[in-house]
Amino acid sequence: MCGIVGYLGKRQALPVIIKGLKRLEYRGYDSAGVALLNGGLEIVKKKGKVADLESEIGNRKLEASLGIGHTRWATHGEPNDRNAHPHTSSDGKLAIIHNGIIENYSSIKKELESNGHVFKSDTDSEVLIHLIEEIKKQNNCTIEEAVRLALNEVVGAYAIVVLSKDNERSMIAARKGSPLVIGIGEDEYFVASDATPIIEYTNNVTYLNDQEMAIIKDGSLVVKNLENVTKTPFIQKLELDLEDIEKGGYPHFMLKEIFEQPKSIRDAMRGRLVSREHHLFLSGIDQYLNRFLNADRLILVGCGTSWHAGLIGEYLFEDIARIPTEVEYASEFRYRNPIVTERDVVIAVSQSGETADTLAAIELAKSKGALIFGVCNVVGSSIARASHAGAYLHAGPEIGVASTKAFTSQVTILTMMALYLGLKKGTISLSDYQTLLLELDSIPDKVAKILTKDEEIRNISENFYRASNFLYLGRGFNFPVALEGALKLKEISYIHAEGYPAAEMKHGPIALIDEDMPVVFIATKDSSYEKVISNIQEVKARKGKVIAIVTDGDTEIQSMADFTFQIPKTADALVPLLAVIPLQLLSYHIAILRGCNVDQPRNLAKSVTVE
Ligand code: GLU
Repeated sequence: MCGIVGYLGKRQALPVIIKGLKRLEYRGYDSAGVALLNGGLEIVKKKGKVADLESEIGNRKLEASLGIGHTRWATHGEPNDRNAHPHTSSDGKLAIIHNGIIENYSSIKKELESNGHVFKSDTDSEVLIHLIEEIKKQNNCTIEEAVRLALNEVVGAYAIVVLSKDNERSMIAARKGSPLVIGIGEDEYFVASDATPIIEYTNNVTYLNDQEMAIIKDGSLVVKNLENVTKTPFIQKLELDLEDIEKGGYPHFMLKEIFEQPKSIRDAMRGRLVSREHHLFLSGIDQYLNRFLNADRLILVGCGTSWHAGLIGEYLFEDIARIPTEVEYASEFRYRNPIVTERDVVIAVSQSGETADTLAAIELAKSKGALIFGVCNVVGSSIARASHAGAYLHAGPEIGVASTKAFTSQVTILTMMALYLGLKKGTISLSDYQTLLLELDSIPDKVAKILTKDEEIRNISENFYRASNFLYLGRGFNFPVALEGALKLKEISYIHAEGYPAAEMKHGPIALIDEDMPVVFIATKDSSYEKVISNIQEVKARKGKVIAIVTDGDTEIQSMADFTFQIPKTADALVPLLAVIPLQLLSYHIAILRGCNVDQPRNLAKSVTVE
C-alpha cells in the first residue's frame, strides 16, 4: 500500500507530484508529504489526505523540477505528521519515500542508535535512510552504491525513491515486493507505484523487477540489480486511457465502477466467450490443459473480496467440472505448512496482482511444483508475472477501495474456467454447457437492468442507515454473496455486518435477532428456495427486519419480507453475478447516508502490498 511518486525533468515537480498522489490515494491516505530539491531540500508533510498537504503547502513557493511525494498507509507508527514520509537522514541531506515494510528495522535501528543516530519518527522507513547515510559515510561511496549496499542488508518489502542534496539532478528508485513503474518522457522521468500518475505525460514505461534499482539522472536511466549487474530496461507502451482513471460524471469511483459492470463483465468474456460458436476459448488453460485435467485438486488463494470470488469458484469447479477444490486465505496458506504437490493447480485471485500474501502463497506453491494460474486485473503485475499462465480480468482500473467490478469479473472468469474444464472432462453435457454459455452471455444486460433500479435500493437504504448491525444470509452459490455483501457494508459504512450460510443462522447468530436487526436474504428461486423461506420465517418470528433479494415475479417472499428487490432470473450457478449488484448499491447508499467517504474508507487501502 502507500503511493509514491517521483519527478525529474523540465516541469515544475510539485503539481505533477500532487496530481499523481491524488491518483494514488486509493493506496493509503493516513498522511501525505513531498520533498523538493532545488539548492536546498524542502520537505512538507501532513497527517491526513493529499488535500490536507495542499492546505499545508498553501501559497508557499516550492519551485523545483526534481521531487518526490508519498501518500501513506501506516504500518509502523501511528498516522501523524512526524511519521509522514519523506523521512530524512541525520545530516538532513538525504530524503526517502518508502512503500512496504522493513522487517529487520528494529535490529538495524539499535545498531544505528549505538552509532549516534537519533530518530524523529516511529517508522521502519526512517531507519532505511539512516542506514544508507551510515553506509555512505563508512564506505565513503556514492549515494547509488550506499543505497545498493543498504538494500542488501534489509529484509522485507519496499519500493523506495531516494533524493540526495549533493546530487541535484538525480533520483534513485528500487523495489522488492512493492510495485514501481518508471515513465520515460521527453527529457523527463517519472516514478510511481502505478501508471496512473504517469499516463497524461507519456505512455513509455518500464516496470522495475524485484531487487532492481534505477538511477535516474537528467538524460539517462540506468537499471541494475542489487548485485551491481546492469540490466537493459524493457520499455513498453501503456495501454491505459486518462478517462479510465477519472470519475466520468459520477460522484464517486465506487459508484462509477458499480455502473461499469455491464461493460466490465462483457470485457472479461471478450475474445473468450464466442456465443455465435457456442464456445469458449481460454488459451491460458489450453497451454496447460493436461495439468488441469489431471489435477488432484484446485486450490484457490486470495484475500478479502478475491477470497469470496474464490469461494464461488469452489462451488463452480466442484459442481460443474467435478474437480476437488479448496479455497484458502493466502495469509493462512503461506504460513501453515500446507500439503501441495505437482498434481495441484493453484489459482491466485487478486485484483491488483500485487497482494503480498497471495504472491507469497503462489511462490510457496510453485516451489512445491504446483501449476500457478493467475486471475488478476492489473496487466504485468507481480502475481501475473509469477504465474505460469492466467486470465486477465480486463476490467479497467478499479480505484474505489471497496472492490466491485473486479469481483464480478473474477467470478465471470472462474465461471468460464469451470465450464470449459467441465466440457473437457465430460462432466457437463454439451447442451448444458451451451445453455449456460448463452445465459452467461446475457448477464451484462441483466446487470444493466438491475442498475436501472438503483433508486429502489436507495429507498431501502433510507430505512436502515442508522442500524448498528446487519446480517447477510444465503445458501449454495449465494452464501459467498452474503459474505461479500457483509464485507462491502463493513468496509465503507463501518456498520458491523456478518455473512452466514442461511442454515447456520440457528447455530448462533439467531441469538442476535430482534426488531433492530436488519437481515438481508439472498433468496432467489433456486434449489434451496423453500429452505431459505423457512429461514426468513425464523427471522420474522423474532421480529427481525427482512430485506430479500428475490427473483423477478416472486410474490411469496414479498408477502413476508419487509422489503424485496427483484433481480432477473438466471441459472443457479450465475446468480452471484446478479445478486451481488443490489448489495453493492445497498452498501454504497447506506455509507453515503451516514456521511462516509466511500472511495477512501478509514484504515483501508486498496493494493495490499504488505503482509
Ligand atoms: N512501513 C512504512 C510506514 O509505516 C510504509 C508503509 C506504506 O507502505 O505506506 O510508514
